[in-house]
Amino acid sequence: MNRAVFLDRDGVINECALPHQYVTTVEQFRFLPGVLDALAFLAGNYTGQVVIVSNQAFIGKGLMSTSDNSPNGIVFDWMVGRIVEAGGRVDGVYVCPHTPEDKCWCRKPQPGMLVQASRDLNIDLPRSTMIGDMLTDMQAAWRAGIGKCYWVMSEYHPLPDSWHGRRYRVVESLAQAVHLIVEAERESLRGSGYRLGGIRGVNHRGRAASTASCPQRRL
Ligand SMILES: [Mg+2]
Ligand SMILES: [Zn+2]
Repeated sequence: MNRAVFLDRDGVINECALPHQYVTTVEQFRFLPGVLDALAFLAGNYTGQVVIVSNQAFIGKGLMSTSDNSPNGIVFDWMVGRIVEAGGRVDGVYVCPHTPEDKCWCRKPQPGMLVQASRDLNIDLPRSTMIGDMLTDMQAAWRAGIGKCYWVMSEYHPLPDSWHGRRYRVVESLAQAVHLIVEAERESLRGSGYRLGGIRGVNHRGRAASTASCPQRRL
């Protein structure tokens, strides 16, 4: 089975739009500093997969359609293209288009996108990692049984007062989380005879976000 690093998008990969606004166009999309380098470093030094899981409720609010040609699809395709171009890899992109009122299974804090990815990509969730910037990212990971969580501090989503049993590690950036993941991997592989190489030659083009099969149920 594979392991994976799951990444939230807004606030982890790119700058959040102002609170309660959405990044709906390539023009609005700004990579956070160091993110592209960090994802290239991850691709070269981590033996698992990289999967993006993103709530985009504005689709369900009717502000945009879910068809493949929609501007939102273009934003994700463009983002994956830039990541791959910079030496990173993306093995899957999962998007929940629903609003909270839809009570779907995929909108974080529900674990549906993580569970679906684990089925599609044969991912061992307890040996996988979540990187997010909101409590709902952590909750989705816990419900899916993910082994390790990193909480990236971001401008619009400060840490909560409660530490929730400290079941996550707080980091300043995606880059810091990635370095800790690689460090842990090196530690676990030390003595196993496995040699970590440089940048791997193969990059995987991310698959288009699939929203049609999104289960409309709660756990
Ligand atoms: Mg976020
Ligand atoms: Zn959903």
